[in-house]
Amino acid sequence: MFDFSRSLFNKRFDLKPQIIALCKTEKGVQQALMYATEQGLKISIKSGGHSFEGFSLNDGGMVIDLSNMKRLRLERNNDLIAEPAVKLKQLYDYCLPRGRLLPSGSCASVGLSGITLGGGYGLFARQFGLTCDFLTGVRMVNAKGDVVDSDDFPELLWACRGGGNGNFGVVTQLRYKTVSAPSTLYQHRFRAYNLSPKKASKLAKHWFEQCDSLPNHAFSAFILNGQTLTISLTATDHDDKMKQVLRVFDLIMDKNDRLKPDPIAKGVEYYYGRRKPLYFKNISAGYYHGFADIEKCTEALFTKISSTPGAIFQINTLGGAINNEEYAGNNAYAHRGFKFLGEAQCTWKNPTHAQQSLAAMKDIQNTLYQNNIKQHYPNYPDVNIKDYKQAYYGDSYLRLQKVKQAFDPNNHFDCTQGIKTIF
Ligand SMILES: Cc1cc2nc3c(=O)[nH]c(=O)nc-3n(C[C@H](O)[C@H](O)[C@H](O)COP(=O)(O)OP(=O)(O)OC[C@H]3O[C@@H](n4cnc5c(N)ncnc54)[C@H](O)[C@@H]3O)c2cc1C
Repeated sequence: MFDFSRSLFNKRFDLKPQIIALCKTEKGVQQALMYATEQGLKISIKSGGHSFEGFSLNDGGMVIDLSNMKRLRLERNNDLIAEPAVKLKQLYDYCLPRGRLLPSGSCASVGLSGITLGGGYGLFARQFGLTCDFLTGVRMVNAKGDVVDSDDFPELLWACRGGGNGNFGVVTQLRYKTVSAPSTLYQHRFRAYNLSPKKASKLAKHWFEQCDSLPNHAFSAFILNGQTLTISLTATDHDDKMKQVLRVFDLIMDKNDRLKPDPIAKGVEYYYGRRKPLYFKNISAGYYHGFADIEKCTEALFTKISSTPGAIFQINTLGGAINNEEYAGNNAYAHRGFKFLGEAQCTWKNPTHAQQSLAAMKDIQNTLYQNNIKQHYPNYPDVNIKDYKQAYYGDSYLRLQKVKQAFDPNNHFDCTQGIKTIF
């Protein structure tokens, strides 16, 4: 049980905490935290266990494992009350048949607390907003074991909307508003093969141009895997603008796998992804306004991808409702203005291949940095990101630090790349 509990989705981490507190209730979390504080143990918080950098585990300290706390309930007014370790599959399986949606990520096994506390984008973010935009309240246990409700502390809610991962205390309950679920998901998948970095770069330019005016009900991803490019396009409507974008992708790509429209619950399942843990290094490859931001380095980036076994470069569309004014001021998530988010990934089966993969991801991060790509998604952390405070939290950092000072003045929650109290 101990070994199971200390395992993460990323097999790269083999950390051994002194104690894992497998909590079933908020009271259990209170007791565990009081003990850890008394004993001076380092504390980490684990919900879905998908942290890219293993931030939910530690060596020699205490891990608060919340995996048994996963109850979910829709209220009469369609507000959703969730315990911290609800996973995204459970979320969609519960809400969609009831005609409700909380927009979030696509991967089935990602934890709802981790994704919310750092932002949370996915197929529906351009139509409705980020997961954190729908958060209306949290209950949290601080290092002294006291329960705090954000209804009494609005600054805590502001901070947990994009700046809350492992920073202030253990979130034991999350409350959300929901929207009426769209009925249908239209899905398209285009492919192009045997691409040189130069050709892939040309296709990237076309993709950015088309996505710049994508309707808000649509989402697209540009996924370069070695020398093969996949463009995925999903939408909840099939209007003229969509038809125009589809015509262009038809022309520039080699193959079009047009899938039939699915009822929303079935369509979402298609993006659930792999559920079994694997060895990988995933990094934020930064936010962009458009192709011009990375034009000078796409060939270098794509050359590295095509020469590294198991490497992928993906760019996702943001924008749309994410830029709604009502969200902007109320929310620690710092990077609303950008229309695109990049990520790079390398997976391997044999641990001896780790070194080459890690070196490639580091090179990619350096290339981006040299090309002035310096703002990154906190839910895609990379320990190689220089000045992570500015990169993840931008203008929100100083305000987040005040929240830290108020809720965890002694830095008991000392997450790597976290918000730090100044003494
Ligand atoms: C395969 C995969 C697919 C992904 N897909 C998407 C996607 O589509 N969209 C997207 O936006 N992101 C995506 N992500 C990134 C994901 O949002 C983050 O990895 C997220 O932080 C994971 O949350 P978790 O609860 O599963 O992880 P954990 O490892 O349990 O936690 C992650 C961080 O949050 C903190 N934390 C967790 N629970 C709590 C809590 N209750 N209170 C306080 N702090 C807490 C932890 O301490 C840690 O720092 C994906 C990640 C992976 C590995």
